[in-house]
Amino acid sequence: MKHTYREIFKWGDRRETELEKGILNLIKDKFDYSDAELSQKHLYGDKPVSLDKQGLLNTGALEKLRNIVGNENVYTDDFTRASHSFGKSYTDLLQLRLGSVPAPPDAVIYPRNLIEITEILEFCNNHKIAITPSGGKSTVTRGVETPEGGISLNLTWHLNKVLEVNEENSTATVQAGIFGPAFEEHLNAKGYSCGHFPQSFEHSTVGGWVAAKGAGQASTGFGKIENMVLSLKIVTPTGVITTPCYPASAQGWDLHQIFIGSEGTLGVIVEVTMKIRKYRPDNTRYASVIFKDFESAVGAMRCSMQSGIGTPHIFRISDPEETEISFKTKGFEGTIADKFLGALGYNQGRCLMLISAEGDKAYSKQLINSIKRICRKHGGFSLGAKPVLKWLEHRYSSAYLRDPLMDLGIMSDTLETAVMWDNLIPLWKKVRNFLKERPKTVVMVHISHVYENGANLYFTFLSPVNKGNEMNEYIAYHKGLVDTINSNGGSLSHHHGVGRALAPWMEEQLGKTGLDLMQAVKNHLDPRGIMNPGGTLGLKP
Ligand SMILES: Cc1cc2nc3c(=O)[nH]c(=O)nc-3n(C[C@H](O)[C@H](O)[C@H](O)COP(=O)(O)OP(=O)(O)OC[C@H]3O[C@@H](n4cnc5c(N)ncnc54)[C@H](O)[C@@H]3O)c2cc1C
Repeated sequence: MKHTYREIFKWGDRRETELEKGILNLIKDKFDYSDAELSQKHLYGDKPVSLDKQGLLNTGALEKLRNIVGNENVYTDDFTRASHSFGKSYTDLLQLRLGSVPAPPDAVIYPRNLIEITEILEFCNNHKIAITPSGGKSTVTRGVETPEGGISLNLTWHLNKVLEVNEENSTATVQAGIFGPAFEEHLNAKGYSCGHFPQSFEHSTVGGWVAAKGAGQASTGFGKIENMVLSLKIVTPTGVITTPCYPASAQGWDLHQIFIGSEGTLGVIVEVTMKIRKYRPDNTRYASVIFKDFESAVGAMRCSMQSGIGTPHIFRISDPEETEISFKTKGFEGTIADKFLGALGYNQGRCLMLISAEGDKAYSKQLINSIKRICRKHGGFSLGAKPVLKWLEHRYSSAYLRDPLMDLGIMSDTLETAVMWDNLIPLWKKVRNFLKERPKTVVMVHISHVYENGANLYFTFLSPVNKGNEMNEYIAYHKGLVDTINSNGGSLSHHHGVGRALAPWMEEQLGKTGLDLMQAVKNHLDPRGIMNPGGTLGLKP
């Protein structure tokens, strides 16, 4: 069987995700779809992959690369090149559905060790061949595209081992191409956990987490990736850097922080030493609370973070529309429990908060009780552990709903930002207003990464798109969305990174001098501009 475009955007999985009845009803209700429309498949992407662009590396270059990594680790076939041309943003999926791969890499290479990576970088630097490091290719900001061709350097085949678990220091050193589940299983077997669980956990690597500066779903307790990394080993075109491993230091800049968020533009992250924590799932306590409106829920969340009671791990609030849709699609709406909540005044505008607290048994119990006390003061009503446990069951799988939605011609995407507390509600309103200007658009918002000084806002939008005009409509809508966030005090990204999708706004965010500083670091480490070229992070070639 020939490999198809569909296989690429479905993470290599040939099985289909069926939409649940609740979601199908939602589509009928909000988008006026008929049964006939629900059975039609649009831009299915099931054609065999075939590229009209030959790889541009000459025989001599390919021979040299084969000598370095072995014949079996160099690929130039259409499917491998196409599957390294995109990540998982809406536009990536659309291009694949259209069978359009305008700029594939010339070759995909799977290096086996640091020495080989060093030799590849040296060779490519001498011949000015572009190199784009890739892990799980789950970027949603167009981070792994190869507009200048060259090589996609994939670390997942060989550089995927746990090198050391140091229980005394509570650290693990891993190779950057290891996927989340393999890392976590290794740690769990020793009684530890990595504490970093992005929704893309199953399909992303430690190198990608670090390079794109990600956050896991329990980041409120464990911190973002930049709070977890203690040291890195990176191969750059200028040389290899191993940052020293200390719990803290005052010897100038923490060099590893330069590479966290570098998105492949400075070099290849080969090894990472990270903090780990004890794995004690039996100690975790859960709670869910319903509020009458978003403002009260946000007030309770802020107060919890600023009261010195401790920090929960998962801490989320769904705004009214997200709460309404999750109650509708999960079959809660109309139940006796729902009517009971309605009678208590928790109906239109209500918001669901989910909480987990980990650590020592007494601590997690006390923390949950303290948060519940604060929530009560803000008008919250406790719903017990069930809603958060239900959410945990689907914590990774909801990401795969995008494919069947796109099959129906529904644009579906997310964008996230970070904002200080005093601007959170105004920004939420402004962005929602912008998104809602588009007719028949479902806009769901949640807060999922929380700090003493502010939080993130995560926007999900679903909207039927005019067939044949998908790309233009999306690009205009996305631009308006980012403009609205950017001009109203939100960051370009809280954890998805910048890539090429958000690069045009970088100078406005950082100022010219700020971006020039990043460029100067790039020019020093990668003077010929071979690392992930083509505008990532707003950097010039
Ligand atoms: C459905 C879905 C849900 C998501 N949820 C989350 C979430 O909850 N939290 C979150 O943080 N992100 C999330 N993401 C975004 C994405 O998964 C993260 O950015 C992730 O960290 C990328 O890891 P990866 O291994 O897939 O990296 P890739 O996508 O392969 O690469 C991402 C960037 O890092 C660079 N890179 C990768 N490996 C290396 C390396 N070894 N050395 C140097 N540069 C490298 C690439 O060049 C590229 O610029 C989600 C994505 C999807 C599709």
